[in-house]
Amino acid sequence: MSKIHLAALLPDEITEKLHLLKQFRGKQIFQWVQKGINNFERMTNVPNPIKTLLNEQTILSTSKVEACYREEGVSIKLRIRLLDGHTIESVLLIDTQGRKTACLSSQAGCPMKCMFCKTADMGFKRNLESHEIVEQFHILSSLSGDISHIVFMGMGEPLLNLKEVRKAIDVLHHPEGRNIGLRKITISTCGIISGIEDMTCNGPAVRLAVSLVTADDDIRKKLMPVSCTNTLKQLKQTLLAYQDRTGKWITFEIVLLAGITDREEDINKLIAFIPPLRASVNIIPWNPAHGLPYKRPDGTRIKWFRERLAASGIVVTQRYQKGNSINAACGQLFVDEPGE
Ligand code: SF4
Repeated sequence: MSKIHLAALLPDEITEKLHLLKQFRGKQIFQWVQKGINNFERMTNVPNPIKTLLNEQTILSTSKVEACYREEGVSIKLRIRLLDGHTIESVLLIDTQGRKTACLSSQAGCPMKCMFCKTADMGFKRNLESHEIVEQFHILSSLSGDISHIVFMGMGEPLLNLKEVRKAIDVLHHPEGRNIGLRKITISTCGIISGIEDMTCNGPAVRLAVSLVTADDDIRKKLMPVSCTNTLKQLKQTLLAYQDRTGKWITFEIVLLAGITDREEDINKLIAFIPPLRASVNIIPWNPAHGLPYKRPDGTRIKWFRERLAASGIVVTQRYQKGNSINAACGQLFVDEPGE
C-alpha cells in the first residue's frame, strides 16, 4: 500500500484519512508536520498508538536534498531529488532587510519554452504534487529559519498546475501551520489566460505577477511561444476582467535583454499597453545562463529604462541581482537529468 503524504494535508483531511476518532488529533498532527519535523517521535502530545499508525501508513517527506549551494547572507539554492527520480531546484532569497522569500518550483522542468530561460532547456518532466511543493518550503525553512514570503517563480508555469499550487497555498496559509499571508504569496505566470481566468473566479487571492517581458507583440511571440496562442490583446482583456473582479494590482515583470527589450520603442509600447490596468513594473535585467545567446544591458541602460518608465508615472521596481554566483537567479534554474 502506498503511504499517505502528510505535508499537504489539512487538519480535517488528516483526521479523515487516518480514521482518527478525535477531530483535534488531526490538528495536532498538522501542527507538527507544518513545523517541518522529520520524526514522528517529536510529536510529544500525540499518543503512541497514533504514532505507530503514522509510522506505518504515512510519510513526512518524499524529497531528498541532493545539493545545497549558498551565497552567504543572500541566497540558498537546493537541488532536490523527488521520489520518482526527477530533480527540481528551489531557492531562498534574503533581501537587505533580512526578509526571507522562498522561490518554489511548481513543475519539474517547464513546457513553455521561453527563449531566455535556462529551465526551458530541461523540457517538461511532470507537474509537482502539492506535498512536493510544501516540502520545498519546509526544507528551505529548516536551513534558514522563518520565511515570510513565497513566490512561485522557480521551475515551471504555476498556472498549468494550479490545482496542486492552490492546495499547497491552502496548507502554507493555514493559521494552525505556517500562516503565510496571502498578500505575501505571489504566483508568477508567463501569461496563461485560462489559468488567470481560473484564478479570477476561484482564487487563490494571492498576488499575481505576469512575466510580460515586452509589450511588442512580434518580439514577444518570438521570445515566448505562449504568446502565439495567448496573445497580448487577449492577455490584457483577461487581466482587466481579473482586476474588475478582484480589485488587485498586477506586477508586470520585464526581462531586459540588450538590444531586444530595452529599446526606446519597447518603453513606448509598454507605456501604451498598461493603462487602464493598475499595474507596477518590475525590471529584471537578464541573468546570464550558459548556452543562451542574450546579453544583459549595462548599468547605464538599465537606469535609463527604469527612469523613463518612472517619468511616465509608472511605479517601477528593479529586481536586484541575487543568487547569480550559484545560478539561483531568475531564469537560471536547470537540472541536467542523466539519460535524457
Ligand atoms: S520563464 Fe517560467 S514559464 Fe518560461 S520557460 Fe522559464 S520557467 Fe517556464
